[in-house]
Amino acid sequence: MILLDGKNLSAKIKDEIKGNVESYKVTPVLAVITIGDDPASKIYVNNKKKACEYVGMSFLHLSFDESVNEEKVIKKIKELNKDKYINGIIVQLPLPKKFNEDRIVNTVDINKDVDGFRSGSAFVPPVAYGVMEIFDYYKINLEGKNVVVIGRSKAVGIPMVRECLKRNATVTICHSKTENLKQYTKNADILIVAVGKKNIISKSMIKKDAVIIDVGINRVNKKICGDVNPNVMEKCSYLTPVPGGVGPMTVVMLVKNTFKAYKKQNGIIDMFDVMNNE
Ligand code: NAP
Repeated sequence: MILLDGKNLSAKIKDEIKGNVESYKVTPVLAVITIGDDPASKIYVNNKKKACEYVGMSFLHLSFDESVNEEKVIKKIKELNKDKYINGIIVQLPLPKKFNEDRIVNTVDINKDVDGFRSGSAFVPPVAYGVMEIFDYYKINLEGKNVVVIGRSKAVGIPMVRECLKRNATVTICHSKTENLKQYTKNADILIVAVGKKNIISKSMIKKDAVIIDVGINRVNKKICGDVNPNVMEKCSYLTPVPGGVGPMTVVMLVKNTFKAYKKQNGIIDMFDVMNNE
């Protein structure tokens, strides 16, 4: 069994981006909007800030109190859209319930939508992009394979399905209404779990030598764990650890998307290069 080391791979990619960013005179800028005080979001935003600063990009954090009027947030996003020095804009989700997430996310200019959440966005959402980078690095070929994705969220599950289809996998999507989940997971050559429930997958539910990608991040007794029971290690061929697997890859792919946005906006690359996983 091989652990798919996202920590190490993300560090390599960060160093590559850093080397490239240094060759440009104007610094790329990522703007991050947060609303409210979600503790997990604080950690994620801080990780994004650290990664941007490491590669030499600027990080602009616009933090709104939960009491803010939605129109004020929309107005700020529109200002950022017009600002030629801002290359990427993301809205850290989830937002407090009273806000219309879709409306706010869809206000981000499609050319600056580095989270790839808008429909028709050229950017591959960072979680799926990061998982594809792991497959490439470890030479895991998806063509013709049975891939099962558990989870169908707009940010994680659905983009993952799209990326796996691009690689000619045969993809099955499971979700909370799926009956007899095991019947599907048992057949998966590659199983991607993005649910947010500890131990939803265990050894008896997987195929021998399956590749297991654990996207889940759960906080249990102040410790972080994924969705997959560690006992799968006795049976699978590859596994992403939590922490240290998909999480650090997600952060670095956001940085990569921001750099792509910067290059696209400055005429250095075209839309095809943005869409391409390179
Ligand atoms: P989400 O929006 O809550 O979606 C969870 C999905 O899991 C839904 O599609 C839901 O089905 C499905 N589900 C829930 N219970 C299930 C069950 N018992 N059996 C099968 N499917 C079930 O969450 P998300 O934003 O996609 O995130 C998923 C996990 O990934 C979370 O742990 C999150 O923290 C983590 N995450 C990690 C990263 C990273 O970088 N590693 C980034 C983002 C998110 P329905 O559609 O039917 O409700």
